[in-house]
Amino acid sequence: MQELTHYINGQHVKGTSGRFSDVFNPATGEVQAKCPLASVEEMDQAVRAAMAAQPAWAATNPQRRARVMMEFVRLLNRDMDKLAEALSREHGKTFPDAKGDIQRGLEVVEYCVGAPQLLKGEFTDSAGPGIDIYSMRQPLGVTAGITPFNFPAMIPMWMFAPALACGNAFILKPSERDPSVPLMLAELMEEAGLPKGILQVVNGDKVAVDAILDHEVIQSIGFVGSTPIAQYIYGRGCSNGKRVQCFGGAKNHMIIMPDADMDQAADALIGAGYGAAGERCMAISVAVPVGDETADRLIEKLVPRIEKLKVGPYTAGNDVDYGPVVTGEAKKRILGLIDSGIAQGATLVVDGRDFKLQGYEDGFFVGPHLFDHVTPDMDIYTQEIFGPVLSTVRAGSYEEALKLAMDHEYGNGTAIFTRDGDAARDFAARVNVGMVGINVPIPVPLAYHTFGGWKKSGFGDLNQHGPDSFKFYTRTKTVTSRWPSGIKEGGEFNFKAMD
Ligand code: NAD
Repeated sequence: MQELTHYINGQHVKGTSGRFSDVFNPATGEVQAKCPLASVEEMDQAVRAAMAAQPAWAATNPQRRARVMMEFVRLLNRDMDKLAEALSREHGKTFPDAKGDIQRGLEVVEYCVGAPQLLKGEFTDSAGPGIDIYSMRQPLGVTAGITPFNFPAMIPMWMFAPALACGNAFILKPSERDPSVPLMLAELMEEAGLPKGILQVVNGDKVAVDAILDHEVIQSIGFVGSTPIAQYIYGRGCSNGKRVQCFGGAKNHMIIMPDADMDQAADALIGAGYGAAGERCMAISVAVPVGDETADRLIEKLVPRIEKLKVGPYTAGNDVDYGPVVTGEAKKRILGLIDSGIAQGATLVVDGRDFKLQGYEDGFFVGPHLFDHVTPDMDIYTQEIFGPVLSTVRAGSYEEALKLAMDHEYGNGTAIFTRDGDAARDFAARVNVGMVGINVPIPVPLAYHTFGGWKKSGFGDLNQHGPDSFKFYTRTKTVTSRWPSGIKEGGEFNFKAMD
């Protein structure tokens, strides 16, 4: 049995707490590795190494830091297949999807190569007689991030790439369910030229997270995961005086207007609803056709497409559409919610409960499910299922459809499918959701825009990646400077306007 490590101060170190969690191969259901769960002392060891290394890294000019990022991009491309294989083996997602996970992180690293430009400050020449004002963006110091299981490459890179490009040290506490790729990324960053101690990986559970929340040296915390934990981390981190951004769960609605291209809408729903077994925070989990006639046409198009979905292990390469869910526990929870949907009166149009795969009987596979006639009071509507289950809520009008998306407690992503520019424009303007797609089902913004949800899907002021990330990982310092002759004439006691 493989025993995984932490990556502290440039070295793989064994866990010393004596506590471990199981890392499964979701396709077979076997435990393939043990992940060490750090103690408070192990976290403190990493923080001390980060504190010692960070000032020299902050003093390295931004262009040199950017060159490390550039080299890291090259190494990611070099090792793409190796990383994707390790990712699929622990997460279960298909091989092409694992590459997408790495690619979407890599693109944020590419954005961070622009650090010299992005870190340029502001300057006001002659704000007063002989007076200039300038603002600098300075790194925070030691920063930390806590990431979920569902994007073990992308989300760590969304955090550590801007943090490092800005001159910080970063401690990553990845998900204990798939920690191997984060460890590989830390090694690759050092191969790219990052000094030891600047990027460390400390594996763990709540003990490690609490150690981050309470450590007085750590200046900022990024979190991505479920909403209850996001709220907990935001509250405790903020009350400890840290800068915190937390991104939580989701229930993303796709509105299908009567004039939509129904084939296009159905294809989009298949990818967005069932891709990655529905384990994406930007998955579409609710289809909202407007009008019964639209709903009937949509269901008619969806059913044959769903029945054709190929579910299997990542080792089947391009021959599978989605893989198993991450753990047996996740599978049990999803099946429990499906039962609740039936009990609460929804119509199960496609039933994947009996799905079995020969040779993989113990894997965590869940067949695809489609519900119709779902209503807002049902658990399958209020809760995030995070599985291959699409719910259809029929709306009587556009306003009713809009209201559904607006009244849901989550506000991560949403989409509208229509040929009517006016409806699309109205939807984008009014909906209280952070990321909107117009005939685009998973509107994940590219690296140079920002990513973040509203309502219970996001806590904090700044989004991930794009310009917000450079604000999140720096502090502004503003200098007012005067070099006149005659400054030595004596003190001035009044608070002066700069005239
Ligand atoms: P999770 O909340 O269970 O775990 C996330 C992280 O928090 C992990 O590192 C975990 O070790 C840690 N953690 C778990 N329980 C904790 C506790 N009690 N105290 C302190 N730390 C704890 O989430 P997950 O199951 O890994 O990921 C799936 C969730 O993440 C879904 O809700 C999904 O929507 C969400 N997600 C959101 C986004 C976004 O950008 N909004 C992106 C990806 C995933």
